[in-house]
Amino acid sequence: MRTIVQTLPGKASTDKSETGRTFAGVGVSPGRIIGPILLMPQAVREPAMGERLAEGTSPEEASTALRAAAKAVQINLTTRSVGASGAGREVLEATALMANDPMLIKAAVKLITTGASAERAIWDAAASVAEMLHNLGGYMAERATDVLDVRGRIVAELRGVPAPGIPYSDTPFILVGEDLAPADTATLDPAKVLALVTSSGGPQSHTAIIARALGLPAVVAAVGVDSLTDGTVVFVDGAVGTVLVDPGADEVALAKAWETTTAALAVFDGTGRLKDGHLVPLLSNVGGTTDAVKAAAAGAQGVGLLRTEFCFLERDTEPTIAEQVEAYRGVFDAFPGKKVVVRTLDAGADKPLPFLTDASEPNPALGVRGYRTDLTSPGVLERQLAAIALAAEGTEAEVWVMAPMISTAEEAEHFAGLCQAAGLQTPGVMVEVPSAALTAASILGHVHFVSLGTNDLTQYAMAADRQLGPLAALNTPWQPAVLQLIRLTVAGSRDEGHDKPVGVCGEAAADPALAVVLVGLGVSTLSMTARALSPVAAVLASVTLAEAQQLAALALTAHSATDARRIVREKLPILSTLGL
Ligand code: PEP
Ligand code: MG
Repeated sequence: MRTIVQTLPGKASTDKSETGRTFAGVGVSPGRIIGPILLMPQAVREPAMGERLAEGTSPEEASTALRAAAKAVQINLTTRSVGASGAGREVLEATALMANDPMLIKAAVKLITTGASAERAIWDAAASVAEMLHNLGGYMAERATDVLDVRGRIVAELRGVPAPGIPYSDTPFILVGEDLAPADTATLDPAKVLALVTSSGGPQSHTAIIARALGLPAVVAAVGVDSLTDGTVVFVDGAVGTVLVDPGADEVALAKAWETTTAALAVFDGTGRLKDGHLVPLLSNVGGTTDAVKAAAAGAQGVGLLRTEFCFLERDTEPTIAEQVEAYRGVFDAFPGKKVVVRTLDAGADKPLPFLTDASEPNPALGVRGYRTDLTSPGVLERQLAAIALAAEGTEAEVWVMAPMISTAEEAEHFAGLCQAAGLQTPGVMVEVPSAALTAASILGHVHFVSLGTNDLTQYAMAADRQLGPLAALNTPWQPAVLQLIRLTVAGSRDEGHDKPVGVCGEAAADPALAVVLVGLGVSTLSMTARALSPVAAVLASVTLAEAQQLAALALTAHSATDARRIVREKLPILSTLGL
């Protein structure tokens, strides 16, 4: 980890009026770092409908300006692609090509000659090209997103405002914005971004998930932080949840001490266990092969959650069975002889997939998402199960399958039937809706295991949108009500004569203190981002099962989430020793 103290070339230095100001938010990924900030630009506003050429501007001048803007965008993206790697590089290369696409520019120039402003012309021309590509389907349909992306960039260039998306800099910076979408991650370069800070977003938001996956310190819901100017130097404490402007010697010392901690926590020996030897397998959450390979290298004992929708986020058509087989097989191959829990597509709410979800729903988090899309798009789930079964053939991974957003035992039964028909022997479901926690015993009459998705379980138990910063205090799995639902799920797993495994794959498992509480509540496995494996393992190894059970009892009966967290943390001195 790096303690970087510098300002960005050509940017404002720390605004003295803000010196010493602290922004309090919610710490979602530990780490202490100092660096200059760069703000995530605002989304590009659509030019007014029917916007005409400004008085005194000829169509020829506007066309020249448009061509120059398109060229500038292309050069910028090409330059950036040279320094990028993997998926990020591919996204940048594809977008760079599209920026100066002759068909796009020609269509826009034609509109300019009819009197449209350059901004409006490129906006409308891109919309027509995107629609045409979309109608072609397959690979071409995917390019529609690139056209809409370059459209925003060209309009920003014409207006002289920063391009949308993650800002680019030659030197490392702390990214500050309102919130991040999963799609922003493709161009997030972990070698450049030192930490993430958002003014909105909750502990379960995708910013938090991304930060933990990349091992970046992060603070969310730090209200007002986006009023700072580019280049302001701040100290970010991702465990405490604060952002301090113009840090002093104390913060420099804390940031240096964190470097020592990260070095000490770099390794996990591949077996999660408590001090008394009680085994708690530590698995990893992955979004595809690249993550899986990293997780295996980090010692993960298997995959507790393969978010299959992450393999197809950019798609607006259903992936073919062959494409799916390829995506899943890479993950299975990374874990021979180990368990891999594949979650069927969890589309909807913050993870829309155009081929499954309806963007016009008034309440997407309560809408047709996850398993429920089987109602509106029958066949997709069956084809996915067939693809998982095919991918599993000939691999050595032990493949388990689970459905997201299950609310009733009937749904679990139906899902188990589909799995059986596909030849998949180990069906399970996620418990992320309170009704599923309350009826875990009947649900487990139909499936082999459950996995607690504490991110959604928290949002539904507390009726608090996981993406909303102002609700961050409600939206934490430390809420005693959420812990009670976990306790009831475990109790249900032992009812009716069965004893079936209950895992946790929500972000709660990646919080080392909460991991102790979860084990104390009777959870048998924990699945988390690969980066969290070693801190969680280190803290689990410091307690016995009896101690974990005592801490769980204290958390369950606490008066508030803050009290539960404080009481448990006070009893785990290893946390402050390690700076976690
Ligand atoms: C959860 O809800 O806890 C979960 C693991 O699923 P996701 O974060 O992908 O919604
Ligand atoms: Mg979920």
